[in-house]
Amino acid sequence: MGIPYSENMPKSSVDYATDNITVYRSPCPYRCRYCWAWRIPLFRSRIRRGHYDPVKEAERYARTGEPRTIVVSFTSDPYPPVEKSLRKTRRVLEALARNPRHKVMVLTKNPQLALRDLDIFLRHPNMWLGTTVISLEPTDWEPYAPSPEERLSALKSAHSKGVRTWLSVEPIIPRTTYPELIVGETLDYVDWYVLGAFNYSGRLAKMGKDVLKGWYRDHVVQAISILRSHGREFHIKKELRKYL
Ligand code: SF4
Repeated sequence: MGIPYSENMPKSSVDYATDNITVYRSPCPYRCRYCWAWRIPLFRSRIRRGHYDPVKEAERYARTGEPRTIVVSFTSDPYPPVEKSLRKTRRVLEALARNPRHKVMVLTKNPQLALRDLDIFLRHPNMWLGTTVISLEPTDWEPYAPSPEERLSALKSAHSKGVRTWLSVEPIIPRTTYPELIVGETLDYVDWYVLGAFNYSGRLAKMGKDVLKGWYRDHVVQAISILRSHGREFHIKKELRKYL
């Protein structure tokens, strides 16, 4: 019998997962301009509060009986270039793959590197590969991440081999993110979508809430309509729902 879920396990702050494992406890090398994770002081404070060995964390989940939905990772990407040699994320996924009760949702801007680990994804009944795309074209919001084209091509490849895929369209940024185009372009190889709002307060203040509201009511509503008409499953995050 598995050990019970422990309050010490790192809970998720998002509404579609119960838990998260942050593999890399260092500033994320992709440095997306809408992300706080690579801004060192805040990230350090999170590290101080968190646990330090992601493989041990994963091993605890491997022994836990109660089913959880675990995201790998929200804070700092699980597939930075250094993962090629360190293989820490691979070891985390190997540990998680020992427990078929959990749903494991990998989220990375570098799914090309995650293709190396498809053997683990295919071994587990509920391990999903996901990426984030805020535009079909490269933008200066994500200057150091692999291009959207590379990300989507990797997802397509994983899907063709039988891995379940998901796409996070977040943050939806006015005049940059056309969620209806992203959804329309990816329906053939994405199994589940998450749509989320733009919450980075500094830029938000400049843009104004009315601009956001107008953009979401137009473009997000179109994306939802496409998803519904194709019978696709999706999740609208609560921060975005309040605009619709
Ligand atoms: S890849 Fe993810 S964690 Fe890294 S900077 Fe971008 S949004 Fe933040």
